Amino acid sequence: MKHYFPTYYRGFRCIAADCPDSCCQGWDVVIDSETEAYYHSVQGELGEKLREAIYTDPDGDRVFHLAEEKKCPFWGADHLCDIFRELGEEHLCDTCARFPRITMDYTTFTEHTLALACPEAARLILGADDAYRELSDINCVDCEEYDADVMCFLLRVRNHAADILTKPQPLTARLEQLSKSATKAQKELTGEDVACEPFSPDVFEQLEYIDENNRKIILQAAKEEADLTQHEAELTRLVLYWLYRYLLGAIEPYDLIAPIRFIIGSVSIVANMVQKSGDVITAAQTYSKEIEQSYENMEVLMRNE
Ligand code: SF4
Repeated sequence: MKHYFPTYYRGFRCIAADCPDSCCQGWDVVIDSETEAYYHSVQGELGEKLREAIYTDPDGDRVFHLAEEKKCPFWGADHLCDIFRELGEEHLCDTCARFPRITMDYTTFTEHTLALACPEAARLILGADDAYRELSDINCVDCEEYDADVMCFLLRVRNHAADILTKPQPLTARLEQLSKSATKAQKELTGEDVACEPFSPDVFEQLEYIDENNRKIILQAAKEEADLTQHEAELTRLVLYWLYRYLLGAIEPYDLIAPIRFIIGSVSIVANMVQKSGDVITAAQTYSKEIEQSYENMEVLMRNE
């Protein structure tokens, strides 16, 4: 199976104690069974702390109890991980060892990317031009899991969308063309005539948020008319990142409109967040941490209603 990577992928290194918004705060860490079994064998104070910290959450996952301010209990005062320090990197659970690396397995080929919710990954993603050239030349072959003709079609749609998004035109005009091309492609795919309508701001009221202040910022940004005239280069890279992350997901529901609506709606919100803060990397990373990293939130936003 062939693997495809955006150019920024291999340049990622965790900046650990220098991270401005660590992944060790705010999220539940799901512990895989092999790692948990190892943690049961660890002796001494750390072993006891590990065993005391693990519980089963309402979804049935084994997770660590978070400490004050939703911090991982193994995140030391020096902003380094006690498990890494005392047991070694090889004994991190899969969740911690992989983050922010994301693998998208399409059976006959695999695409890799980084999670925008990591500040260092966001810096690389929003700083890289021409990052997806490897992914624009994928051959699809027959497989049992899905219709290869549809995958070929989606890859063509994605290349066409990337061409639109890299035209030397204002971002607003490019997004309008993207929206129209999604409607046309959806008609070709399923015969449905569906316009790519923007999100109602009320949708964002229904979502879950880690941080109350971020909730207020995102809700306010969702209500405002988008101003896409500033930071166009970074916002274009953001849109391309989401295009490569989500469009091929249409292979299962045959729904191209949902990912394109997510992309257009999300970049508009991030652009409005940047208007207030002036910091495009932090705005995109914060939006991603609050919205994209939540399975439940993405379920709501990717629903075709
Ligand atoms: S968010 Fe990224 S850079 Fe920060 S600690 Fe986690 S992996 Fe490292």
